[in-house]
Amino acid sequence: MNCLENAGRLTAKIYSRCTLYSTLSPCPMCSGAALLYKIPRIVAGENVTFQGPEAYVRAQGVKLEILNDPACIQLMQDFIAARPELWNEDIGV
Ligand SMILES: [Zn+2]
Repeated sequence: MNCLENAGRLTAKIYSRCTLYSTLSPCPMCSGAALLYKIPRIVAGENVTFQGPEAYVRAQGVKLEILNDPACIQLMQDFIAARPELWNEDIGV
């Protein structure tokens, strides 16, 4: 969501040619935003820590690639260890 906000207001034509890169498998909110913006490709660093609605996203025609990159998994583990309150807030715990 921050990425989309930081990109500013772009035309639909531009979003239709974008790839969204994410450290983690996109959550339902971010997946929904990507679908509404008609972003055709998402590359996620990992889905070990958390898995969003990947099957649904793919069923909508998005090319979703999950890298399961050890650096991304470590980044998430470090973030959760350092700021558990933010992680719990993000996932609704
Ligand atoms: Zn999200």
